[in-house]
Amino acid sequence: MSALSGIRSIMEDIALAATDTSGDTWLNLSPGNPAAIPQVTDTWRRLYEEAVASGFAEFSGRYGPSRGSDVLVDAIVRYFNARYGWGIGPQNVLVGAGCQMLAFMATTVFTGPGDDGPRRLVLPSVPDYTGYQGLSLDAGGIVGVEPGVEFQDGRFFRYTFDLEAVRAQSSVGMMLLSSPGNPTGRTLLRDDLSGLMEIAEERDIPLVLDHAYGDPFPGVAQGAVDPPLHPNVINCFTFSKAGLPGERLGFAIGPRDAIDAMLSFTANSHLHAPQLIQATAALALNTGAIDTLTTEAIRPYYRDKRRTAEKLLHDLLPDALDWRLHSTDGGMFCWLWIDHAWFSDLVLYEALKRKKVFVVPGRHFFVEPFASPFLAEHATRCVRLSLSPDETVIAEGIARLAEALEEMRGAK
Ligand code: PLP
Repeated sequence: MSALSGIRSIMEDIALAATDTSGDTWLNLSPGNPAAIPQVTDTWRRLYEEAVASGFAEFSGRYGPSRGSDVLVDAIVRYFNARYGWGIGPQNVLVGAGCQMLAFMATTVFTGPGDDGPRRLVLPSVPDYTGYQGLSLDAGGIVGVEPGVEFQDGRFFRYTFDLEAVRAQSSVGMMLLSSPGNPTGRTLLRDDLSGLMEIAEERDIPLVLDHAYGDPFPGVAQGAVDPPLHPNVINCFTFSKAGLPGERLGFAIGPRDAIDAMLSFTANSHLHAPQLIQATAALALNTGAIDTLTTEAIRPYYRDKRRTAEKLLHDLLPDALDWRLHSTDGGMFCWLWIDHAWFSDLVLYEALKRKKVFVVPGRHFFVEPFASPFLAEHATRCVRLSLSPDETVIAEGIARLAEALEEMRGAK
């Protein structure tokens, strides 16, 4: 927690590139930032202005409830009950400063030293979101479970959950995963979800599901299973990927006792999340604006970008190269596996930097120690590309990636 982890260390490189005076244009294919889609930006600006006009003094001039502003908590309750037929109340909801913060609070509450020894955070299938790696206050407090690998038609592959390996973990305090996944775009299948909920129930631990890219918003995945209402599941949602990453706003929905514990953490650590943006988000839920953005703007945008990127990869990457792409259900990334002994994600990262391109080295999405020699090797043979940049940046970035790979292959 007190050291830079994974991807955060490359932020410095990107900051440095921003001050480059050579006149060259850097192509950044690494961002987790959502794209600035004009319809999305315009809608949020309009709603924000409405919130300012109607309640600046009320929201910004006063402290508010730690659970979240009444307007937003009520809006969340109404929205989810109507959409999923749930019967939740305010006691099941906690508004927080983004999914990252909610995941940190849950990890701190449910893992660490316990009455019966250490309780660890288990990521049931790595690779998963690099931001999970810094969540634990205990060195060695996080375990990443090795997935299975399924080879699919053409250049595609898919990781599968190894539920037996998850079940075999000891000293578990909580499980956490993103679905659709960052970096893979994979969504949980119904059977995997049932299996994980069964394990959580047997152990009486929380299963935290991070829906940052999922339904109901930004909804950039096909066939995602509905968020489950279950006594052991804490569902985390965020407004970041729906266009508000800078505002730091998310919320958790779960069983009352778990939400209560996280509510106390909120009150003790930072009182509550910022309120003007909560009022803005409430307007988006109550008016249905968030659904319009999801279906009309965000989902088609990433679907089209993915199609373009897949075609470019197929057209431009050398045929002789053993490369594979994780098949996607959605998400905002492409996850590439380059399966050669001469390949290293860090060597590629440096080679691309020389070509003024940033990508994210794959190893940052895995957790050490590795469960097997295969996983240790595999973690160095992957790379993540973002679908958020403009199409011209993606096209030129993939062209330079192809060039760099050809050069690495030639130098082997
Ligand atoms: N969860 C996942 C899977 C993410 O990819 C990200 C950001 O990249 C986050 C959480 C962070 O979300 P927030 O901005 O709500 O803290």
